[in-house]
Amino acid sequence: MVVPARDSAAQMRAARQAAVSELCREALIERDTEGLMELAAEVVHALLGPCATAILQLEADVRKVVVHAPHAWPSGGPADGEPVEMAALAAGVPEPAGQRSTAVLEEHSLPPHWRDNGTKTATVSVLDDPSGLPAVLVTLHNAPRTFIADDLEFLDDVARVVSGGLAHRWWEDERRGHRLDDPLTGLANRACMLDRIRNALDRRARSRSFVTVFSIDLDRFRVVNDTLGREAGDEVLKAVAGRLRRALRREDTLARMGSDEFAVLSEHLAGEPGAIREADRMLEVLAAPIFVDGTAVSLTASVGIALCDSADRSAEAVMRDADLAMHRAKKRIGSAHELFDAAMRRRAVKRLGMEHGLRTALETDAFELHYQPIVSLEERRIEGVEALIRWNHPTDGLIPPASFIPVAEESGLIRPIGAWVLREACRQAARWAANPAIGDLYVSVNISGAQLTDQDLVGEVAEILRQTGVRPGQIALEVTESVLMRESASPAGLLQQLKDLGVRLFLDDFGAGYSSLGQVKRLPVDVIKIDRALVTGVGEEDIDRRILAAIASMGRALDVSLVAEGIEDVRQAQWLRRLGIACAQGYGFARPKPAAAVELLLREGLPADRLAAAFEPSDTWPLGQATLEPPRPDPSEPDETLTLSEAADALGVSHSTMRRWANSGRVKSVRTRGGHRRFRLADVRRLSALVSGRSTPVLRQVPPPAQELRQVADLLDSRGDRLLVATKRSLYDEGRTGWFAGPAAEAGLDEWLRRLAAAARVARWDRALDATAQLMIQSHRAGSSVAERHGFLERFTEATVRELQRGGADRSVLADARRLFHSLLRVTLTVGDRPAA
Ligand code: C2E
Ligand code: MG
Ligand code: MG
Repeated sequence: MVVPARDSAAQMRAARQAAVSELCREALIERDTEGLMELAAEVVHALLGPCATAILQLEADVRKVVVHAPHAWPSGGPADGEPVEMAALAAGVPEPAGQRSTAVLEEHSLPPHWRDNGTKTATVSVLDDPSGLPAVLVTLHNAPRTFIADDLEFLDDVARVVSGGLAHRWWEDERRGHRLDDPLTGLANRACMLDRIRNALDRRARSRSFVTVFSIDLDRFRVVNDTLGREAGDEVLKAVAGRLRRALRREDTLARMGSDEFAVLSEHLAGEPGAIREADRMLEVLAAPIFVDGTAVSLTASVGIALCDSADRSAEAVMRDADLAMHRAKKRIGSAHELFDAAMRRRAVKRLGMEHGLRTALETDAFELHYQPIVSLEERRIEGVEALIRWNHPTDGLIPPASFIPVAEESGLIRPIGAWVLREACRQAARWAANPAIGDLYVSVNISGAQLTDQDLVGEVAEILRQTGVRPGQIALEVTESVLMRESASPAGLLQQLKDLGVRLFLDDFGAGYSSLGQVKRLPVDVIKIDRALVTGVGEEDIDRRILAAIASMGRALDVSLVAEGIEDVRQAQWLRRLGIACAQGYGFARPKPAAAVELLLREGLPADRLAAAFEPSDTWPLGQATLEPPRPDPSEPDETLTLSEAADALGVSHSTMRRWANSGRVKSVRTRGGHRRFRLADVRRLSALVSGRSTPVLRQVPPPAQELRQVADLLDSRGDRLLVATKRSLYDEGRTGWFAGPAAEAGLDEWLRRLAAAARVARWDRALDATAQLMIQSHRAGSSVAERHGFLERFTEATVRELQRGGADRSVLADARRLFHSLLRVTLTVGDRPAA
């Protein structure tokens, strides 16, 4: 601020006028309340002569004064938050004369503590704060001073401008209070968006234009909050808002609908193709990393699109359609969009009716069980069957469980349905056991996660076993991996109680989620069923084979049997035998069938079909070798193709999505002579393993933390030795030691700790991975088993996290530490792929 020479009254007046105009502009446009007070105090301090200035305001609920924007404020004066009665300030202050907001306080009328501070004169200008909290602009002078009219006018002007600014802000806040916009991003909020959609629908009725609504949701935004903190999360949201705003037309409405959900309304798009192009553009602008405090945050988003072409839809319904489409898009991998179509609407309505239908089905006995053989590849016989429920719907025919089990779980109907399944399966098992033409056989029954939370489950199972008279050893209960791996619940005790009844326990769908064999060891499971997603590619992908080989060897180490699910062709079966997986289940052997049809197979054995090739004696291959040779291709296997609509059905996506995938090369297609698209069955299958909602492949590639981990680095540096001791102790049973506990490992482990700490300190995760790969290669060469390597890293993770917890580390640090080690875990399985440096 330029301070004019005081000797020219005219110059001073001009300077003050200019300063007040500047303050006025600031008051109406940019500054927040705090910034405005700051500028006001600065202006007064500069242009009133030597004095201390500040704005004092009473706090809302406490009788305390808050000092804002102090300039040269005496250290003994009321400090920030010091309880000074505002009334005490005003005591003795002459009522400002006329229109004046400013009063002058001579020494005798000063509040005592100001006087004690050496203040001789003061001015107090009353500010009108519409919030109702009294506030004053104060100047304190160390010498007696007379104020001319110009001075008081200047102070009055400043007070008026600040009051105006405060009022402006108050109205802004009020407007937000009426929730027309979102305080964080300044975008329209949900209520405002719905209002705009309503108006657009009205206009549409007249102009016959399209109304397009996009629902946009950031994927895994929670991770940003968890790892970088909420403030960084807010910054990311603001950046997202800015990018979307710039990508849209002025006339489009952009709103923030909830935490990480945004919505766009557009009335100018030319139907479906235009909407899809627009969604692609939004995904594109969100794809570039956002920098927060120097950390790059890469986001993907999911976009749902609803096009409204009907006059009688409500705004809420259109928004719901877009949300539903977005949720479908979310199930895909990576950035994606999905168009809400009529089929989706039908599905939504159907879902509502389903719950009612399920209740009726229970009453009318409309469920039935089919049984699918589980084949021992070694013994070449059916050793068990899995009971799979179907709903025999009066009009829709047989409905598969995937369509109704989720609804049953949500509605609580899974308990009576589960009890029905178990009773029916036990009855059937008892019947088969009594049939001398049928050999030893078990029946496995799926138990849903919701059933495991039932206090009475154990009692109920015991009761059913008793009533049906089945031998408990003939029954297996299948529980899915995702349920058991949940950290919150610890079902080991419950599972043990079930096992104590004499039934066997199968871990279902292993590899579909966050697999951890370490956790499997803690659970009393007899059999692991490897999810189809892992098995599908075994005929083609080397990495899939390696992972299966690792699971097989860990299975042996943990003494659990393995069943591979979803075997459809000879190649897969041959590979499984070669990898040492003893049992298989899949359409290739037999589809699930009603009891009577399976009974025929049980009596007569599997027909000598094309899968017989799987049973041909083969050499035994050493496992864990760098390159496994593929089995000879089966010339009898036809190169089957599917039509566009078959492929779309198989993958559960719309035709347009299927076309888009084909255009982008995500799935290969060939053209028939007539120009129709065809998709290779094998490609569709591979894709289906990727797109199915639950498929996150085993030991999935976990992204490393978003920022450096100094606390972890310090811990590794200072107490790495102790962590290693704890790890070795829990890795090896008493009396047994392996490579990691031996003297040969010492140098390698030290080196690993050092490199890991250095990498964590500067967030160079490639170096952490490299160091870990080197360690694993070293231990691999020295003959460690894959279970040992995997176990080592898992236990080291636990020891580290425990120690961090003991040191009082934040949750976000713990989460980051886990993330770091999980991102390294996969290398324990794939060391054979990496050459040693
Ligand atoms: P699951 O327990 O993993 O059962 C295996 C599913 O894979 C069955 O589907 C089976 O038909 C299918 N399948 C088997 N071999 C192949 C193959 O070679 N290729 C392909 N593409 N699929 C194959 P289904 O019968 O539709 O059951 C789906 C899921 O529904 C089951 O998965 C299970 O989680 C659940 N489920 C089935 N019955 C029950 C039940 O009684 N209670 C509960 N809670 N869940 C059940
Ligand atoms: Mg199952
Ligand atoms: Mg399964």
